[in-house]
Amino acid sequence: MNMDDTICAISTPIGEGGIGIVRISGPQSLEILSKIFSAKNRVFNYKSHTIHHGFIIDPQDGRVIDEVLVMYMKGPKTYTRQDVVEINCHGGLIPVKKVLDLTIACGARLAEPGEFTLRAFINGRIDLSQAEAVIDLIRSKTDLSHIASVNQLKGGLSDKINDIMQRLLGLYGHIEALNDFPEDEVDPLGDETIIEVIDASINEIEKLLETYDTGKILREGLNVVIIGKPNVGKSSLLNALLKENRAIVTDVPGTTRDIIEEYINIKGVPVKIIDTAGIRRTEDIVEKIGVEKSLEYLNKADLIVFMVDASIPLDELDMEIVKYLEGRNVIVLANKIDLTIKADIRKLSSIGDIITTSTKTGEGLNVLYDAIYDRVFKGKNIFGDLGGSIFINARHRSLLLKAINALKSCEKTFDQGLPLDFVSIDLRTAIDALGEITGQVVSDEVLHSIFDRFCIGK
Ligand code: GDP
Ligand code: ZN
Repeated sequence: MNMDDTICAISTPIGEGGIGIVRISGPQSLEILSKIFSAKNRVFNYKSHTIHHGFIIDPQDGRVIDEVLVMYMKGPKTYTRQDVVEINCHGGLIPVKKVLDLTIACGARLAEPGEFTLRAFINGRIDLSQAEAVIDLIRSKTDLSHIASVNQLKGGLSDKINDIMQRLLGLYGHIEALNDFPEDEVDPLGDETIIEVIDASINEIEKLLETYDTGKILREGLNVVIIGKPNVGKSSLLNALLKENRAIVTDVPGTTRDIIEEYINIKGVPVKIIDTAGIRRTEDIVEKIGVEKSLEYLNKADLIVFMVDASIPLDELDMEIVKYLEGRNVIVLANKIDLTIKADIRKLSSIGDIITTSTKTGEGLNVLYDAIYDRVFKGKNIFGDLGGSIFINARHRSLLLKAINALKSCEKTFDQGLPLDFVSIDLRTAIDALGEITGQVVSDEVLHSIFDRFCIGK
């Protein structure tokens, strides 16, 4: 990884805006700036962490490109720990792009996606799990996901991992010493036995692993699929939910538009709602509901909302759909309760909890929100607990699983009374897996897969 060159990028969204920022990081930051910047009062003293008003001038022909505010920050007290310059241009594509082109002409290289954050990581300002939190933070969909990513950015996960690692490293050193010297010459481990340290570590890792499901939901949203025969009120429900709770969502790669798919915010839980009505336009061919494509969505759903029209008797079409719901996580929504109830909804109680609603009056929607929230957090008081909570992602999960398997293998080796070197091999595996979470031990491929998810300029 080359860190000696100086990178630049537009760090604000492309398009018309109040300001657009060109960010430069690297040893030549100041040199490049001095070639293109003319301070308004002619004296630019280059004092670190100061802002200067002036003009960006094309050194080729002396033309003024833009009137700007320039911030110069000398490393290491910067995001990348390198010298950083930020040029605040007038928003709009042309001035910002021209300033960027000039910095490139003066020797900077266009940064790759996430390269600023990558430098922050390489230079030790943040660790890998914190770098990942930067992406989560940018993409957070609700206040809860925001809090969770901030906790991780502050180093919550790193602290936990480092704690476990420290203990295991202590143990590792102890065992290595026991291998080399007789027992009475080795410092004791403290109050704990070897097996107690391993047990405690397994325990801690298990607790972290339990946060995965919730973390996944906070990052990606809870997949909720609304299913039901035509006219029961699926679209009305979606509209009602959107009206009250539309979540602010940045572009999510890979979302398809052939179905109706929206993010909403239910008590802080990002919920991705899929209205299966969008799956097939021929809503009158109802016998086909539930086949193929719909099934695919049912399979991916974390929660299925099965809607029936409570104002008419249940019929064979409702029961047709019921066939596909067995064994799944289902909430039955008996809708249109503002009308006279004619459906025998008790018949559906074996499928899932029944909630009665009217999308017309809004009655029962709060009960639905509570039910969704409870299913995510399973009765835990997440607002209260979230203060210090961290939620692992899929990468952390696979490494924690690796660590825990290695530790369990340590225990087995120990039980079997095999020599201690056998324990230390597994112990090393566990320590390395933990080190990969924070990035102390990390391959180039892993770095790529993480930083490629960033946008340019971050
Ligand atoms: P979908 O085919 O399942 O998406 O159903 P729609 O949302 O398009 O609704 C079908 C019809 O039922 C529309 O005329 C809605 O206005 C009406 N509708 C939906 N929900 C309710 C409700 O709670 N009460 C009443 N009275 N009508 C409703
Ligand atoms: Zn519809």
